Amino acid sequence: SAVLRLSGVSKSYNKGLPGEIHVLRGVDLTLAPGEVTALVAPSGAGKSTLLHIAGLLDTPDAGIVEIAGEDMTGRPDRRRTAVRREAVGFVYQFHHLLPEFTAVENIVLPQLANGATRAEAEDRARALLDSVGLAPRATHRPAALSGGEQQRVAFCRAMANAPRLLLADEPTGNLDPETSGRVFDALMTLVRETGLSALIATHNLELAARMDRQLHLDQGNLREG
Ligand code: ADP
Ligand code: ADP
Repeated sequence: SAVLRLSGVSKSYNKGLPGEIHVLRGVDLTLAPGEVTALVAPSGAGKSTLLHIAGLLDTPDAGIVEIAGEDMTGRPDRRRTAVRREAVGFVYQFHHLLPEFTAVENIVLPQLANGATRAEAEDRARALLDSVGLAPRATHRPAALSGGEQQRVAFCRAMANAPRLLLADEPTGNLDPETSGRVFDALMTLVRETGLSALIATHNLELAARMDRQLHLDQGNLREG
């Protein structure tokens, strides 16, 4: 069954004002488990808006958002927050790691917030770091890591609570091409190991071509290929 399903999702900003902008116009999208999908579009096309709606950080004006079969329309905020915490992981262009905590602690904290024991959380954090080649950096703080290493830690943190859906907004947008490729490989390793579904916004066509599926967001419409 689908991890994420969007049906007829529309979104405007500045509704009814002179600056009204219709960002999404009836978007339909179904993501299956284990699938890595590129969301390709130029800056300003609405990628972040789509990811925020898919991740329950924002609501559409019209249409349905289903996560793991649950229709989130009209659900109370506490339920939306619970589903977001349990089922969705986010990665952004900038890592947003907590600077005063080490890599391993940054991955432990969301698990503690989700009810894990410290021992469980540390084991999982170290396993995640190991799978992206960062075991030797586990006790470094973000400032002591390179940009690519910081992003790999951010991926591990996004996966800390074993989400079904990973949403990434230009996760390599801040990195040089070679580092982008390595960070992307690490992401693919994590996704393949966990079987989750990933939707990755990028304007890097080379990376997009390496994903299972490519979706283009154009004039508020999503098209495949
Ligand atoms: P992308 O991620 O593809 O760069 P966004 O989803 O961030 O695109 O933005 C799509 C369009 O909506 C842009 O024109 C942007 O300026 C506009 N926009 C985004 N957020 C808001 C907002 N909160 N209020 C008004 N306009 C917004
Ligand atoms: P963008 O790519 O849209 O610019 P940023 O990297 O600036 O994204 O991330 C900030 C965005 O994250 C804000 O738009 C905010 O609405 C959103 N956000 C709010 N709460 C959370 C949360 N709990 N986890 C992740 N992102 C959140």
